[in-house]
Amino acid sequence: HLIIDKVTKSFGDTEVLRGVSLSVHRGITTAIVGPSGSGKTTLLRLIAGFEAPDSGTITLAGERVAGEGRWIPAHRRNVGYVAQDGALFPHLSVGQNIAFGLDKKKFAGRAAVDARVAGLLEMVSLEPGYARRRPDELSGGQQQRVALARALAREPELMLLDEPFSALDAGLRVATRKAVARTLAEAGVTTILVTHDQGEALSFADQVAVMRRGELAQIGNPFVVYTRPSDRETAEFLGDAV
Ligand code: ATP
Repeated sequence: HLIIDKVTKSFGDTEVLRGVSLSVHRGITTAIVGPSGSGKTTLLRLIAGFEAPDSGTITLAGERVAGEGRWIPAHRRNVGYVAQDGALFPHLSVGQNIAFGLDKKKFAGRAAVDARVAGLLEMVSLEPGYARRRPDELSGGQQQRVALARALAREPELMLLDEPFSALDAGLRVATRKAVARTLAEAGVTTILVTHDQGEALSFADQVAVMRRGELAQIGNPFVVYTRPSDRETAEFLGDAV
């Protein structure tokens, strides 16, 4: 269970988040949509712990992780984060990148690690042989899938995905999205997904949150949000986003 309460964040004079409150139940997938610059990525980065809010609080699984004098850094939150560009470690092989996220107590020994890495590669539709390659030998879409596998390796309780499928072509996008959605659902992982893709929001998410100018304009069942936008501006944005 994630509770974001009246979170604000400015960069210089720019108010990027202007009092965002959002509550997400365990195991639920939420899609965040909204125009460019509305604060979607910033909200994810605050939840992950890469940035601190100026005011407001963030509570994760009953623990206050940010706000009112509390601060738990990113590496001590059980949260997976996949950025728009994946951002792999360039000097490590694909296999080492993925193994980086594994719980070393649970996967002790080379054989156990290799088997788990192969399983995670399969989940994102990559052959086991990719484990030996270096990130710069992969296409952008392949790198993005490795980034997803690395985040899944951590077995996070909360997964934050910022346009994770945008670098993939249409066929691969649907296949990867399905495999990742299945993996996350089977593990009961709470997921927050930023996406510009309406089909993705409708098929992936239990609820859709619409951001606008640093505020949450609407939140609800995907079908309801897309068929009954709360106001004209939201309707126009959702219409444009098709
Ligand atoms: P997009 O859909 O284009 O990714 P977004 O909704 O994710 O947009 P953010 O990336 O959260 O929007 O950015 C919101 C605003 O905050 C933008 O005006 C951006 O320029 C500004 N911003 C974000 N991060 C920083 C930073 N580290 N320093 C200064 N300004 C920033």
